[in-house]
Amino acid sequence: MFIPVCLIIGSGPCGLGAAHRLNQFGHTDWQLFERNSYTGGLSASFVDDAGFTWDVGGHVLFSHYDYFDKVVEASLDGQYYEHMRESWVRMLGDWVPYPFQNNVRYLPGDARDLCVNGLKKLAADPTTAANFKEWMDAVFGEGIVKYFMDPYNRKVWATPPELMSKDWIAERVSVVDLARIEKNIAEAKDDIAWGPNNMFKFPKQGGTGAIYNGIAKSFSSNISLDHDLAEVELEKKAVLFANGARHSYDQLISTIPVDQLVAKCTNAPDEVRAAATQLVHNSAYVVGIGLKGKREDTKCWMYFPEDNCPFYRVTNFHNYSPYNVPGGDVDNYYALMCETSYSSHKLVSKDDIVEETIQGLINSGMIKESDRAHIVSRYLIDVPYAYPVPTTGRDDALSVIQPFLESHDVYSRGRFGAWKYEVGNMDHSFMQGVEVVDSILTGAEEKTFNG
Ligand SMILES: Cc1cc2nc3c(=O)[nH]c(=O)nc-3n(C[C@H](O)[C@H](O)[C@H](O)COP(=O)(O)OP(=O)(O)OC[C@H]3O[C@@H](n4cnc5c(N)ncnc54)[C@H](O)[C@@H]3O)c2cc1C
Repeated sequence: MFIPVCLIIGSGPCGLGAAHRLNQFGHTDWQLFERNSYTGGLSASFVDDAGFTWDVGGHVLFSHYDYFDKVVEASLDGQYYEHMRESWVRMLGDWVPYPFQNNVRYLPGDARDLCVNGLKKLAADPTTAANFKEWMDAVFGEGIVKYFMDPYNRKVWATPPELMSKDWIAERVSVVDLARIEKNIAEAKDDIAWGPNNMFKFPKQGGTGAIYNGIAKSFSSNISLDHDLAEVELEKKAVLFANGARHSYDQLISTIPVDQLVAKCTNAPDEVRAAATQLVHNSAYVVGIGLKGKREDTKCWMYFPEDNCPFYRVTNFHNYSPYNVPGGDVDNYYALMCETSYSSHKLVSKDDIVEETIQGLINSGMIKESDRAHIVSRYLIDVPYAYPVPTTGRDDALSVIQPFLESHDVYSRGRFGAWKYEVGNMDHSFMQGVEVVDSILTGAEEKTFNG
């Protein structure tokens, strides 16, 4: 049997998924190269000077795969907490349980009526919607679109929903049931998305990154950090790094953003280069605000569709693990992790985002003006590639790029390698890595990537 030389680029969940699978097969002729001096990619965690741990935005494990669950379990070896996924929407000065549409009874009368009447007046067929905006209007109606769907999605995607496709939605956005909403209003009933069946694991120490550090430990000698991919010589099947290293491969698994990969490929045709420029992503600032004090608030994360704050989401990160604050002392410290997206459609100043975040926390009632004096840490992470945006042109562009790369034994997988938001979470990305190795070694179908 021919045993190929596999090179993997990137040590996020996808690259580590591929590495884990190669290791599990007992395959030895492989190496993983990572640009950073740490593993984990977007799923890494960082400890700031004040002793707070931060993720790259709120990372919640919601696995669809038994295989991934077992790998996480082995990596954490029991050293984790389990929490209910309790999420809320900040709206008109109040908290509305998520999903928003099922709990519009929390809104003041006129806003609630606009939401219910909007649903009663629905007429358009969502299956014929040409884009995400038309789909939202057809599914949610005037009120829910006005108060939540439109402002929230503009905020998180930093891309006009008119430019986005509707085809990625599937399980990502819960749709609506008018009878259920009317019943919730009549019975003053909360219709929440959390409960005993909606738990998530979070590492005791080290943030989300601890999962991936644990996975990488068993094959660390095959990982080379501080290797920034500079060029892929497609014809010679070799990769060149910024530090001068050069390695040959039979199969290359790349998990870096595919638009950057194409730009690094020698002799990629103009058509492929042009397609890569059609892919759209947003960026994000993750601002960690560490404060002195005790926060009595069971919420995990909160959505902020309104324009009185820059962020679209805040996580009560001290609730995930006490060790996310200095000395594990949640009686005296708490940690708010705030995510703001940006793009050419939505400019945000890097110099001002920390102060704007603090002011937004005050405006939205998360903290008081007097809490400014209790801030002991301000931590900023700039994330140039945060969300691969599912635009109307995405699939056409990918259908030019991916077959070309694969014809040269280059497999681009993962959140930005595949550029498919709908399969771009940690579990999907890890499994894309596992499944591409299965496909290379055994010819098995790649269910996640193709699914
Ligand atoms: C704000 C935010 C919130 C999120 N929340 C969740 C969540 O709640 N739940 C969830 O499951 N997922 C969440 N995710 C997604 C999660 O982070 C990704 O699914 C996961 O990290 C993707 O793994 P990956 O390996 O495909 O890509 P990445 O994690 O991006 O890893 C790619 C790796 O390639 C490396 N690389 C890039 N360029 C080069 C180069 N030239 N040379 C060498 N190496 C290079 C990078 O340094 C990186 O380590 C979130 C992401 C963001 C940004």
